[in-house]
Amino acid sequence: MNIPRLRPGARLCIATHNAGKLREFRELFEPFGLELVSAGELGLPEPEETGTSFAENARTKAHAAARGANMLALSDDSGLCVDALNGEPGVYTADWAGMPRDFNRAMKRVEDALQAAGAISPGQRRAFFNATLCLAHPDGRDMLYVGQCYGTLVWPPRGDQGHGYDPMFMPDGHDLTFGEMPPEVKHSWIPGQTGLSHRARAFSQFVENQLEHA
Ligand code: IMP
Repeated sequence: MNIPRLRPGARLCIATHNAGKLREFRELFEPFGLELVSAGELGLPEPEETGTSFAENARTKAHAAARGANMLALSDDSGLCVDALNGEPGVYTADWAGMPRDFNRAMKRVEDALQAAGAISPGQRRAFFNATLCLAHPDGRDMLYVGQCYGTLVWPPRGDQGHGYDPMFMPDGHDLTFGEMPPEVKHSWIPGQTGLSHRARAFSQFVENQLEHA
């Protein structure tokens, strides 16, 4: 059974402990007047991501937060899939940044793997970001929404905006990396239109299906 649409003022737990993702969600939700609280802010434990697909991990995180907070929860499982690396790092994108997370090291690891694979020209350095959102109800129901954004990996990394792998990812149709774009360009999400980033694209489907329209 579907989860009914959320109305302005409804409470929603953002199932993340990642400050960069939370910031992006707060920006995306800005026009909708929901009351957002994150799993991190609620002090909920971070579930282990043991799945082998974005959907599996998105479900794990959303259901853990929905049960823990006893409210609707929205998770995002995302990652960078590089053609020349057979889709790696994929669901292991965060792991490539080590612990504590170091995304300069993570980007260098991707670059080293590209060099080892002989991926020099832009055409050999194709990649996409995937975002899989899961909205979970404490009673166990859930809904999934997926968005992807294709582009080219550049080296050296450029720009200090955004988070994660943004400075080495140049989305198709643009000559700036995500790291060089102001947030509103990276999301560039307008009601009724497809967004630019993977998260904005998944989010636009979520909005269409789960939010009450004014
Ligand atoms: P997870 O969804 O918590 O498993 O982690 C996703 C990983 O992908 C993190 O390491 C993020 O930094 C990276 N990632 C996801 N979305 C983006 C993005 O929009 N820009 C840059 N890196 C991202």
